Amino acid sequence: MNYDQARQVKDGSWNYSRQNDESIWPIGYCSSSYSDTNKTHKHKSKEEAEQCYKKFIMDTQLVLDAGKFGDGELIKCEIKDCKESTDTYTRIGSFIIRKYCNTHRNIKTVSENYSVSGVSIHS
Ligand SMILES: [Zn+2]
Ligand SMILES: [Zn+2]
Repeated sequence: MNYDQARQVKDGSWNYSRQNDESIWPIGYCSSSYSDTNKTHKHKSKEEAEQCYKKFIMDTQLVLDAGKFGDGELIKCEIKDCKESTDTYTRIGSFIIRKYCNTHRNIKTVSENYSVSGVSIHS
């Protein structure tokens, strides 16, 4: 199992990392392979590390128009108080499906409603 979360490292800085058994390594833009400097990011806070990883997810794994539900099916937009429906789903990575109407189907809305805080456990 992989455990993804923001972690504080020995020097007091934070980065977003993945743990599998005894190994922990930075992921997303915090990883040296993604950063401009070839160094792991040193964020000042947990929240800053989480924002960094969230941006990575939005930049690399978000597909706003990922497909249609099929048969002309309309699903209510998942934004609270929005009365619109949608026939198009939004995908984040391989497994996370979101339903937003044409007005709300944009990176800003998806990002505001997506959280990377806490621990994400996946295989
Ligand atoms: Zn970072
Ligand atoms: Zn909506």
